[in-house]
Amino acid sequence: MTLTDAPWSRRYRCRSCGAEHEPDAVRWRCDCHGVLDLVGGRVRFPLEEIRRRPRELWRWSEALPFDPGDPAPAAAAMGEGCAPAVTADLGGRPVLTTLEFASPTLSFKDRGAAVLVATASRLGARHLVADSSGNAGTAIAAYAARAGLRCEVFVAASTSPAKLAQIRAHRAEVHTIDGTREDVAAAAVERVQRSEAFYASHVWNPFFFEGTKTWAFEVLLAAAGVPDVVVVPVGNGTMLLGAARGFDELLTAGVVDRVPRLVAVQAAGCAPIHAAFTAGADEVRPTSNEGTVAEGIAIAAPPRGTQCLEAVRRSGGAVVAVDDDDIAVARAELASQGLYVEPTAAAVAAAVGLAGPGDADAVVALPLCGAGIKSPG
Ligand SMILES: [Zn+2]
Repeated sequence: MTLTDAPWSRRYRCRSCGAEHEPDAVRWRCDCHGVLDLVGGRVRFPLEEIRRRPRELWRWSEALPFDPGDPAPAAAAMGEGCAPAVTADLGGRPVLTTLEFASPTLSFKDRGAAVLVATASRLGARHLVADSSGNAGTAIAAYAARAGLRCEVFVAASTSPAKLAQIRAHRAEVHTIDGTREDVAAAAVERVQRSEAFYASHVWNPFFFEGTKTWAFEVLLAAAGVPDVVVVPVGNGTMLLGAARGFDELLTAGVVDRVPRLVAVQAAGCAPIHAAFTAGADEVRPTSNEGTVAEGIAIAAPPRGTQCLEAVRRSGGAVVAVDDDDIAVARAELASQGLYVEPTAAAVAAAVGLAGPGDADAVVALPLCGAGIKSPG
């Protein structure tokens, strides 16, 4: 293995000014305050070998940012990834769904949290700070507990009680903030700057997408090929940007010859990316949260919003918005087929039924991201 092929040849590159930085335990954005992407490091997909490995996201080791024998992943891992893939009938068409809610903390965020916490350990961090609308904080808290790291989680006071109880159960220090999602993030950043903790942000830290990208790899195997359309919920875009990165890596490695159209789903009550998409704008501007049951995607000022918009457009996809009534109908429809998910997760099903992405014969895949018990009702 040459130096440039080594997993740790990966570097941060700023999306705003292009500056590159070595990953370390304290950097989470560029000096210019731009968001960072991960560049460098060659990925490989020895599929026959991968299929024989245990069913967890770590089977994709040649595409993950760890050296062989690094103990950090094993110290954090709990068998995440490789969610069951089942077909559901949505809007009268068969759709491939992956049951992300069957993950250790009951949401897809485990994919990103496992990789991000292992990265924090690899970089020598002992103290993590995260902010979240619920599921990401839960996942970071759980994996930090697993890896023996101290963890503080900032959440809005309005966060579902079930999610708060789950975070506390993992012995994270919970700080509830009266204010918007942006106020919560600002409080976390202030804490990071005062303590020099590792900012375990699923929004800012690009290592999170190294975990969520494995969803694309697994969909490829489950669908026995590249689906025509994938439909994902989008607030901060952790699932969307992970999926886009995953399919791009498969394309670059020559495993596939095309990528799916990405359909991003927002809640109508808080839809800044949808607003930019429908206006034909190049940049996502902050909006306000008018209220929605889909708390996991109610992000009024997503730091990577423009990046999400670019990923959707590059794929030939679309951004759609669904209202709370549509989400409720879709949630009930999924439950009637045995799949009990939280409202945020049901939004994607609502989008299939309403927007009907692609032609009638298109192969559609979507993640069912969070368990219904996180937000009962
Ligand atoms: Zn910069």
